[in-house]
Amino acid sequence: MSAKKLEVGVLGATGMVGQRLASLLESHPWFELRWLGASDRSAGKKYSDACNWRLRDPMPAGVRDLAVNDCVPNGNAPQLLFASLDSKVAGEVEGAFARAGHAVVSNSSYYRMESDVPLVIPEVNPGHLALVRYQRRQRGWSGMIVTNPNCTTIGLVMSLAPLARAFGLAKVMMTSMQAVSGAGYPGVPTLDILGNVIPYIGGEEEKVEAETRKLLGALDADPAHDGHVEPGDFAVSAHCNRVMVEDGHTETVSVALRSKAAPEEVIAAWSTFEAPSEVRTLPSAPQRPIVVREEADRPQPKFDVNEGHGMTAVVGRLRPCPVLDYKYVVLSHNTIRGAAGAALLNAELMKAEGYLD
Ligand code: NAP
Repeated sequence: MSAKKLEVGVLGATGMVGQRLASLLESHPWFELRWLGASDRSAGKKYSDACNWRLRDPMPAGVRDLAVNDCVPNGNAPQLLFASLDSKVAGEVEGAFARAGHAVVSNSSYYRMESDVPLVIPEVNPGHLALVRYQRRQRGWSGMIVTNPNCTTIGLVMSLAPLARAFGLAKVMMTSMQAVSGAGYPGVPTLDILGNVIPYIGGEEEKVEAETRKLLGALDADPAHDGHVEPGDFAVSAHCNRVMVEDGHTETVSVALRSKAAPEEVIAAWSTFEAPSEVRTLPSAPQRPIVVREEADRPQPKFDVNEGHGMTAVVGRLRPCPVLDYKYVVLSHNTIRGAAGAALLNAELMKAEGYLD
């Protein structure tokens, strides 16, 4: 890797995920954040004036005085752009930048399920990046769009991937308890969430069900075909709830496996799970993608959300399920592992694999 850092930008830099990206990019060894974009409410202002900074870490000094740009591809943005845009505008804006030659690494759901768009968790399905070849050919884009999953999907899939590999999956049922930061800023009104559980997050259950099967599906790389992922052959049912937690989505999961497994074998599948060698050395890859907690009452967002700098999925409470085979709990950080950190790891993989040359 050359010593000169690659200049990068963020579309949607003023939002919750955009702020996380700015923070994670502050001392990144490969990338340097030089360009910020947001809505016309923010464009033209200094970042420190446009952005209502909500993270505990201070705003990085290197971005305070950067001007916020309109999200229009007019030649002044770097080739590599992280996108954390309001989902209502993501489709149009990301598409315009990809058409104009930019590599867009997106947090939005808009393109995730398009057959020629990679939906990637580097530890789980790095090979799906190859869909970019078909995408560029089919759409005539000189740039590209690569996506990371929904913040609820990612923890679930990280916990399922070792089980899928070792035993196969037949059925998955997941109930989420999702943090308020997952709804952006200012997010859910206090009077709606205080002392309450909201048993509905629009579109979330459908996203988790479809994305999980795409992420754990097989890439059809036959050059004679158009390039797509054959979804995993298992059923997923998701129940999604918003709870009064700041950061960290907790999920209770029941799973039916294709082959019999003893509890020790399930634990071993999780605790020996490693990213492929090309992913392990990427700067944002956690040392351990999955950590297993043995205490009866863990994981909890209060204690475990920052495991692996927020990039590790923490599992626990494995026990037999009287309906399916096993049940357990998984926790992951929604704005780091579920958004900004996931996009960063995807971009690092793209750089390491030559997609940005
Ligand atoms: P957010 O806090 O509401 O931020 C939205 C960003 O989009 C802001 O920078 C906003 O700029 C910008 N924006 C709004 N309208 C725009 C327009 N017309 N043109 C250009 N920029 C515009 O949302 P968020 O929570 O960061 O989420 C961002 C994306 O990531 C969403 O697609 C979301 O679904 C996805 N995501 C979020 C999470 C999470 O945990 N929060 C996790 C995974 C994925 P202004 O400040 O100028 O309005």
